[in-house]
Amino acid sequence: MKANSPFFPSYYGEFHCLAGQCEDSCCSAGWEIPLDDESYGLYKALNIPDIDGSLEKGEDGDRIFKTVLRDGKRRCVYLGDSGLCRLYALSGGRLGEVCSRYPRFLEEYDGFAEAGLSVSCPEAQRLILLAKRSSYSALGESPGEELLAFIHPAREHCFDIAFSRPGDEAAGIIYYSGIYLQDELMRGSKEYSLPTGERSLFGRIASLYIGFSSYLIESTDILLDSWREGLIRASSGELGDENALSDKEKRALLGYLVYRYFLKAVNYSDISAVCGFIAQSYHLLTRMPGDAYENMRLFSKELEHNRENLDAAVGYFL
Ligand code: SF4
Repeated sequence: MKANSPFFPSYYGEFHCLAGQCEDSCCSAGWEIPLDDESYGLYKALNIPDIDGSLEKGEDGDRIFKTVLRDGKRRCVYLGDSGLCRLYALSGGRLGEVCSRYPRFLEEYDGFAEAGLSVSCPEAQRLILLAKRSSYSALGESPGEELLAFIHPAREHCFDIAFSRPGDEAAGIIYYSGIYLQDELMRGSKEYSLPTGERSLFGRIASLYIGFSSYLIESTDILLDSWREGLIRASSGELGDENALSDKEKRALLGYLVYRYFLKAVNYSDISAVCGFIAQSYHLLTRMPGDAYENMRLFSKELEHNRENLDAAVGYFL
């Protein structure tokens, strides 16, 4: 069934690209950036100098922008020294589909879609970390599909928890809720009901810190050295400053993870695995050594923007 207009968090429309002022540009993230046919045709028609020489075939056979190595980072060949896109200037402001959409994402389910911003972009991250419970309160009615209809109200409950409790406790309750709900589903429940006697499994999450970090090193295809280095330090048990993020930011981070991943239980047919991933990712990002804000962006670049890596990471809890 085709999705209606997507729902989105209240901060979605506030996003504006920082362009030349960006401290961590998406144009130097080392990604393969595809160029769609329509934009390619437009650039050809505009006689953009050396457009063909600036493109190559990516791993999936897509037409992608070439990159150059500068200061240890792989940058898009069109990223100028001023931090601005030269192609944007040459084409009169016409960016390809992927470049103009980033950092927005769209998740489509059966008859239901949600849009959001990715925490991999520093400006989107700033907005996401300012979010409150009300930022996610206009997400619409429960969708019709059976499993989605079951987990959609459960996610509302997890948003309530994420924004009303201290982050660690909330992450542990969300993990417990996922296990409880999966049990309910296996018993054939058709309607979501609140777990009675709420528990926090934060101790279990904390005990998996080394194991989960080691697992990500072994089981995901790591793109960026700084992410690998952080994981290696975490896998040896090293902890960062757990107060680097304020309590409000920790809650907003957990809320973001709930928004981004909870409904993906439909894809994995397992609510407990998705809640485990949400809680464990929250723990890793609030504990691992290094800059907490950079770690969050690296996590997003490595897992959120790579479907195979995300599947592998959730697989830790399946
Ligand atoms: S990372 Fe975000 S703010 Fe920075 S250049 Fe890209 S879209 Fe703009």
